[in-house]
Amino acid sequence: MLSYRHGFHAGNFADVHKHAVLAWIVQALTAKAKPFCVLDTHAGDAGYDLASQWAEKTGEWREGVGRLMGCPGAPEAIAPFLQLLEAFRASHGERAYPGSPAIARGLLRPGDRLVLGELHPAAWESLRGFFARDDQVAVHRRDGWELLGALLPPAERRGLVLVDPPYERDEEYQAAARALTAAARRWPSGVYLLWYPLLAAGRHQAMLRELEAARPGPMLVAELWTAPLDTPAGLNGSGLCILNPPWRLHEALANLQPWLVDCLAPGGAGGSRLHWAIPDA
Ligand code: SAM
Repeated sequence: MLSYRHGFHAGNFADVHKHAVLAWIVQALTAKAKPFCVLDTHAGDAGYDLASQWAEKTGEWREGVGRLMGCPGAPEAIAPFLQLLEAFRASHGERAYPGSPAIARGLLRPGDRLVLGELHPAAWESLRGFFARDDQVAVHRRDGWELLGALLPPAERRGLVLVDPPYERDEEYQAAARALTAAARRWPSGVYLLWYPLLAAGRHQAMLRELEAARPGPMLVAELWTAPLDTPAGLNGSGLCILNPPWRLHEALANLQPWLVDCLAPGGAGGSRLHWAIPDA
């Protein structure tokens, strides 16, 4: 079943949270000269048009990236994302919004690699077209969970894995915990960034407990919400579980999240939390 299309949700508050952290991590990887690889298992489209019928149908971006530019006092931690966003708009138009593939690609240096997995035929076509002449990017029409098993560790032995499934089915929470545990055993030094939704049902909690019990390495949990967490319908918040977070990511998130909450949930219904589920030794 592949009914989820990210175009309805692109640029919403959860994308801003996830993409700001993604950009920060990829930027952090560029601090060392050695090449790295980014694997994006559930890539979606390369980028999105916020003027499209899909984006306008939900209007979610208006309370996400639509609010971002008007917020004063932006912390340093969001600079990589804002610079990337500006460059993407300059190339693709004012209402364009980069997906995770364009964000990661925008920060690669010559010699770094990006590997994308996507199963939806239309999203896969969009990726193939966007990266057609780019020899630093490989696009696979393949199951993201399978890719984790097949491609790790990467030859570079440095890099990031982004795992961002649609959570259309409840089993995906367990699949994520198991796949990440197995991946971290095969490649213990990789950085892993897992996104999950905060819904009233709290389905992510069992997933985090399972991951924590597997002791895959230092594990940072960063969550923010724009509606009370027990609101019955809809996406209340956005969660990120980071294994082997780069140095100073905790500090960056401690500055970033409260600012994002003030910016994206100005009515006061939002909040954030940040904690080490498994401390960095
Ligand atoms: N990572 C993207 C971003 O941040 O811009 C958004 C990805 S979206 C939340 C999830 C994507 O996973 C959808 O494009 C969907 O088609 C794709 N997908 C669903 N099941 C998949 C699977 N088993 N393997 C790979 N991709 C899958």
